[in-house]
Amino acid sequence: MKSSWKHVYPWLKTAVLNLDSVDNLLRQVVEKMSIAFDVECLLWVGMEQGSADALRVYGTPEAVSKCAANLGFASSPISPTAEGEQPPDKRVAQAFHPRSLPTWLLDQQNLPQLKQLDSGDLVIPVTSRGTFPETESRDISSITNPLQFVLQLSRSFAALPIAEIVSHTALHHSPNALQPSSVTQIRGWSPQEIESIEVICSQIGLAYSALYWRQRLEQSRQQSALIGRISRLLNSTLNPDEIVGRIVAELGYGLQCDRSILVNLSQQPISILSVWDHSDRELPSLTDYQVNQGDWQNVIEMFMHGGASYLQIGSHEPEPDPLQAWLKTIGVLSVLLVPLFIQEEFFGAVALLSYQSDRVYLLDELQTVRQVADQAAIALTNAQHYQSLWHKKEVLLRQNSTLQQEILRDDLTQLMNRRSLERELEQLSTKAVWTIQPTFSVIVCDIDYFKLINDAHGHLIGDEVLHSLAQRLQSQLRRGTPAYRYGGEEFVIILTETALNKAIDVAERLRTTIRNTPFQTKIGFVDVTASFGVAQQDAITDQSAWDVLQRADRALYEAKRQGRDRVQAIEPSSQEQPLSK
Ligand code: GH3
Ligand code: MG
Ligand code: MG
Repeated sequence: MKSSWKHVYPWLKTAVLNLDSVDNLLRQVVEKMSIAFDVECLLWVGMEQGSADALRVYGTPEAVSKCAANLGFASSPISPTAEGEQPPDKRVAQAFHPRSLPTWLLDQQNLPQLKQLDSGDLVIPVTSRGTFPETESRDISSITNPLQFVLQLSRSFAALPIAEIVSHTALHHSPNALQPSSVTQIRGWSPQEIESIEVICSQIGLAYSALYWRQRLEQSRQQSALIGRISRLLNSTLNPDEIVGRIVAELGYGLQCDRSILVNLSQQPISILSVWDHSDRELPSLTDYQVNQGDWQNVIEMFMHGGASYLQIGSHEPEPDPLQAWLKTIGVLSVLLVPLFIQEEFFGAVALLSYQSDRVYLLDELQTVRQVADQAAIALTNAQHYQSLWHKKEVLLRQNSTLQQEILRDDLTQLMNRRSLERELEQLSTKAVWTIQPTFSVIVCDIDYFKLINDAHGHLIGDEVLHSLAQRLQSQLRRGTPAYRYGGEEFVIILTETALNKAIDVAERLRTTIRNTPFQTKIGFVDVTASFGVAQQDAITDQSAWDVLQRADRALYEAKRQGRDRVQAIEPSSQEQPLSK
C-alpha cells in the first residue's frame, strides 16, 4: 500500500543522515504525506517556542489558499530553501506565518489528541513528550508546550453528519509520537490508514527532534563563537568609529540579517551612525529616507526607562505605530532592536533589519545580541576614556618632544601652528565621540588694526608685538590648553569640557590682559587691542569641530563690526543669536 510507513522511512532516514534543515524536513513531510495519502496537507509548527511570532504553517498550495482567507496568513510565503524557484508542481509545500490560529489548534496545545474536525479534516499532533496521563482533569499547566507540530490532513468528501464525527482518543504517546492504538472509526479514513499515519508521525517526530536539536546546537555554537570574536575585536581597537562599525557588522553577519544599523537616539536629531549590509542582498539605500525623532519616540522612552532589553517589531500590524510605518516605508518586514548604554546613559540602539521575511529570533539569539551589546558598551566606554587620555597625551607630547615642537609649533610666536590645530579639530570630530564627548568651546582672537602697527612702526616691530601677544595669551591659559596661531595675527583656543559662558569669561580675561598692558618693543610701548569670537559645540547641528570654529569666526566678525576690542559669542545654531559681553 502506497501509504505504508515503509515508504516514508527511507527519505526520513536520508534527511536525518544528510543533516537536512528542519525547514526542509517539514516541507518534505507535507509533500510526501499529501502524495502518500492523496490529501491536502497543512503542518503547524513552532508552538514549543511559546511565541505567536514563531508559528509557521507549511502546506500544499491548495490547502494554504483555502486557509489563507480564514486565518490571514502573511501575504508572502517564507522563501523556500531552493532560492527563487517557483514550485514545480502543485504538491510543493509553501510556508507562511499565520496571523491567527484556529481554536482547535489552541486546544491541541493543551490536550494533544488525534481528532477529526467538523470539516472532516484529520488532525494529528506530534509531541516531544512521553505518555500523557489519560485523566481529563490533569494539571494542564504542568505541560509546557509539548507539541512539536500538528499535521492537518484534508480529504475532500461530502460534509459529514455531525453525529458521526468521533473523536479519537488514543493518547498513549511514546516519546515523540502517538502510538498505534485501537482505532476508533474516523469518517473517510480506514483504520489501517490511521495506524499507518500514527507510525509515520512517530518517525517524523524522531527525525524532527534530531534535526531540530542539531540545528539549535549549531546555532548556539555559532553564537558563542560570535561573542568570542566580537569581544576580541572590540578589545583590539580604541577608535570609537571602528568599534561602532564592527558591532553592526558582526551582529549583522553573525545573525545573518539583511542589514544592521546603529541609531544614535540620545541626541536630537537622531541619526544613523553606522550601517552594515549583507553582501548578497541588494538593499535600497537608507540615505534617501529621513530618520525622524517622532517615529522613534516610543522606543526611546521605553529603552530610556529600562523597559526592555530588546524589542521585536513587525511592520504589518493593522494599526502600526510610527516606527512600524517608517519601517514599512523603507521596505523592512521586521526589526530587532537592542538598546545600547554607555556609562549607564542610554545611547541608542542596534537595529537588525529583515527585508525578505518576517524574521523571528530565538531566545538564545536574543541573548547573544544582548551580550554583544553589553560588550559594545564597555568598548565604547573604554574608547571614550581613551580619547580623553589621548588628548592629554598629545598635549604632553607637544610639550616634551622637540621634534614634535618643530613640526607642530609656529616659529615666530612659538605657539602651536595651524597644522596642529587641524589635527586637534579632526580628533574632536571623530564621529562616534562627537555626540558623547563633553561639550567644548572655541575662541578666535584677531588683533585690531594690526596693519596700522606694521605701517606705523615697521614689520619687525609688528613681529615683536605678535610674539609677545602670543606669549601673553598662552600664559593666561591653563597648562594643557594650547593657543594656536591660526593665521597672520589670528589665534584660536579650544577649551575642552567648557560651555559657552565659561569660554566667554576666558575670552574676556584675554581681552583685558591685552588692552590693559601695552606691549614693550624696541621702539617703546605699543598699545594693542584685540577682538574675540566665541562659540560652543552643538553636537546636534554641528557636523564637526570645524563648524564650531566657523561660528566663532562669525562671532569675531561681529565683534569687529561692532567696533573691535570686545568679545562676541554666538549661541549654538539651534538658538542662534549674538551675545555680547
Ligand atoms: P582688523 O583685524 O581690526 O580688521 O584690522 P587689521 O589691520 O588687523 O586687518 P587684517 O586682520 O586684515 O590685517 C592683518 C595684517 O596682519 C595684515 C598683515 O600684513 C599682518 N600680518 C600678518 N602676518 C604677519 C606677521 O607674521 N608679521 C607681521 N608683522 N604682520 C603680519
Ligand atoms: Mg586684525
Ligand atoms: Mg586678521
